[in-house]
Amino acid sequence: MGIANLGENVLGTTQPSTYTVMLAPALEVRLLKSTAVHELFHCFQVGMGLAEGDIPDDKLWLLDATAVWSENFIYSDYNCEHQHLPSFFNNLDNQLIAGFKRYGGYMFFYFLDTYLQDKSSVPNALKKAKTTSVNYILPELVADFNAAYYLFAGYNYNEVPMKFYKDTPPFPDIKRIRSQPFINDAASYDIPVSLEGEPCGTMFWIHR
Ligand SMILES: [Zn+2]
Repeated sequence: MGIANLGENVLGTTQPSTYTVMLAPALEVRLLKSTAVHELFHCFQVGMGLAEGDIPDDKLWLLDATAVWSENFIYSDYNCEHQHLPSFFNNLDNQLIAGFKRYGGYMFFYFLDTYLQDKSSVPNALKKAKTTSVNYILPELVADFNAAYYLFAGYNYNEVPMKFYKDTPPFPDIKRIRSQPFINDAASYDIPVSLEGEPCGTMFWIHR
């Protein structure tokens, strides 16, 4: 593990072939510790064989969503992961699994872990991702995925009377912005769950 100038907005990196973690210099101490946790979690993923070859978009999503989840798991009161909430709440109408929203994707695992008390979903997702596309994995993580996803969608409203997410200090109020659904391959998607409301519902596409 070392310190390096990694470029603007890059807090840390992990080199999979050597398990070398580099952290940006002069990070605020909580951000430094959270970033170290994040990169260390990537090392675990590398050790599981999840970072070999070209990593597809859905697996990138899983690797970073769970690495951000680990930041909260270890330092639950630092809330450094909250920096990724805008990318999550601004894209609720978009597919859940997408590389461009992989950091905010931690909210899915945070929800399963914290509100459904499902402590096995992160390890199970990572284990299954060794052989299975992430699109197929998520619905198998909980017994009744549709019910869980409806509840998750309700939580994501995140406003009175459905302000369910709790944190200390309080979970941020985030203004949801209606996003343009991002479907580049509509014919190959099924839509098992869709909860649309105004403003902003949330949808989830899964490959057939
Ligand atoms: Zn990462």
